[in-house]
Amino acid sequence: DDQRANTDIHQLDEDTVARIAAGEVVERPASAVKELVENSLDADASSVDVTVEEGGTESIRVADDGAGMSEVDLRAAVRQHTTSKIDGLEDLASGVATLGFRGEALHTIGSVSRLTIKSRPRNADGAGTKLVYEGGEVTSVEPAGCPAGTIVEVDDLFYNTPARRKFLKTTATEFAHVNRVVTRYALANPDVAVSLTHDGREVFATTGQGDLQAAVLSVYGREVASAMIPVDADGEELPPGPLESVSGLVSHPETNRSSREYLATYVNGRAVTADAIREGIMGAYGTQLGGDRYPFVTLFLEVPGDAVDVNVHPRKREVRFDDDDAVRRQVDAAVESALLEHGLLRSRAPRG
Ligand code: ADP
Ligand code: MG
Repeated sequence: DDQRANTDIHQLDEDTVARIAAGEVVERPASAVKELVENSLDADASSVDVTVEEGGTESIRVADDGAGMSEVDLRAAVRQHTTSKIDGLEDLASGVATLGFRGEALHTIGSVSRLTIKSRPRNADGAGTKLVYEGGEVTSVEPAGCPAGTIVEVDDLFYNTPARRKFLKTTATEFAHVNRVVTRYALANPDVAVSLTHDGREVFATTGQGDLQAAVLSVYGREVASAMIPVDADGEELPPGPLESVSGLVSHPETNRSSREYLATYVNGRAVTADAIREGIMGAYGTQLGGDRYPFVTLFLEVPGDAVDVNVHPRKREVRFDDDDAVRRQVDAAVESALLEHGLLRSRAPRG
């Protein structure tokens, strides 16, 4: 007797499965941008140029001068679960230095867009390779002249997933998300020249000279950069807690905005958000900021790997600490002492 004849349960075709899975990794243009920029940084690029049209909904182009890929590598890179970054779970347990490792970004982006990759390995002479991947399939591979490094172009994101395409917001909103992502990476990698261009207009370009202050100047402009003061606390300068150090730049209280968007915080080099960190920062400013006003902050926290839940899901940026209260106190103390040192907390008693 054939059980299958009596059921409505059936196997989805591979294409449908891939597109459903893609929605988990690639929610909007900014998520594709994030994956591509991470790949460029993982490839040890010293420059990463991001160009988007219509907030990334029409096209996204990320060009780097990183390690590049041979034709064989390029063909492998777009297959599912192919990565050059880990071999197995034991590599995860010992801590991953690269930003990506799941080996699904190119494959998934390619299953919901028209993807073109041109690449040439750094030390290879001659032409590079151009690969076109559409709707989940490699449609052409041919030699192509290109500089050393990789250029990934994503056109018509979600063209074959109309439901997802419908959820995209206005160009301005989608671009704001893209801008936020690229800004986060530019600030965290001042030694990489990162640029962002939207609809033909350059939004910012960092020099890659290796200085956080210079990166802030390039990204946020002169007014903000000149209002930044350094935070640099470690070891005994911090109250007890999991953080080993807190460093970066924070703005004078009067240089503020009505959005949290300018709180760029990182744990062990990864851009994250966490209530404990935000509350620590806001606590330090106290009443110096009006209601719903936020400073400009680029703050790097270092913790031992086991004190933070390193969330390996590609989309999650929110982290939790074992001891949120201690983290809040440590961030508060580090930022407060920087503000005090610069005489920026008028309402508090001057120190000894
Ligand atoms: P993951 O980053 O998790 O390994 P991806 O699908 O993002 O997975 O990329 C697959 C592989 O393609 C990477 O492991 C890497 O070897 C290669 N790759 C992707 N982008 C680049 C790039 N910009 N430069 C060099 N190699 C790249
Ligand atoms: Mg990746």
